[in-house]
Amino acid sequence: MTAPAVRTGPAAPSHELSGVAVVTGAAGGIGAETVRALVATGIPVALLDRDITALWQLAAALEEHGDRVLAVAVDVADSADVDAAIAKVEAELGPITHLVNAAGVLRSGTASELTDEEWDITFAVNASGVFHVSRSVARRMAPRGRGSIVTVASNAAFTPRVAMSAYAASKAASAMFTKCLGLELAGQGIRCNVVAPGSTRTPMLTALQGDAAERASVAGVPDAYRLGIPLGRIAEPAHIADAVLFLLSDRAAHITMHELTVDGGAALG
Ligand code: NAD
Repeated sequence: MTAPAVRTGPAAPSHELSGVAVVTGAAGGIGAETVRALVATGIPVALLDRDITALWQLAAALEEHGDRVLAVAVDVADSADVDAAIAKVEAELGPITHLVNAAGVLRSGTASELTDEEWDITFAVNASGVFHVSRSVARRMAPRGRGSIVTVASNAAFTPRVAMSAYAASKAASAMFTKCLGLELAGQGIRCNVVAPGSTRTPMLTALQGDAAERASVAGVPDAYRLGIPLGRIAEPAHIADAVLFLLSDRAAHITMHELTVDGGAALG
């Protein structure tokens, strides 16, 4: 049987998004694909990342979109830095209506091996970073009564993995924070959802183990990855961006506090 074609390009333009979008981790694999999909819808997009070189390269590649793309260097672990970046976005692009929290780091190691520094940086970026950016944006969105937020967590947030305890725990924190925020902001009509990717073809995955990580993810490693990926392949960043854009858009107008898993069935649900 021939496997269905896997689309690797940006999502088709959607007309259910309006206003201004912010993407953190914009220079990474999933973040950049989400940026390209958002730019294709025609709305202004702010690209936030701490990797200045990769950020400028992406902004330059999107130069044809001119003043609809704004690159801002920011460390999401630093709340003052975040507040300044979000203020700059609103000053230059206008009121933010959509936020994607995609910045993240992965430090692998068993609980016995993990250092304090590895634990701390994982929570500073993956958990506190989502809090800092979402709070800064929510304070502006709430009085306006309009907006949607999507946090990119992980299927590791609810599927135990060997050598992933810090990462998985930080992703569980970011996912639950996002759902609680969704409850708090529902009265203002602001939706907050979570996308939980499985193994996805990005620099984060290849940095983990190179090609071995992809083989292990697909086939399954009994002591690390449970049953592998039933659909037989890892995700492309476009698969994740599609889910993010759906939840951001008015097509998901009655969906909030939801966690959408995009992992080829790896988490069995
Ligand atoms: P990536 O490493 O390609 O991108 C992550 C981006 O986050 C990078 O551009 C990096 O510079 C940025 N970043 C890291 N720390 C930051 C900080 N303190 N401030 C601002 N930016 C910072 O990884 P990716 O695979 O594209 O990951 C995107 C998101 O998806 C992450 O939250 C990740 O945990 C999640 N995720 C990835 C996978 C996967 O298999 N690739 C699976 C599940 C979840």
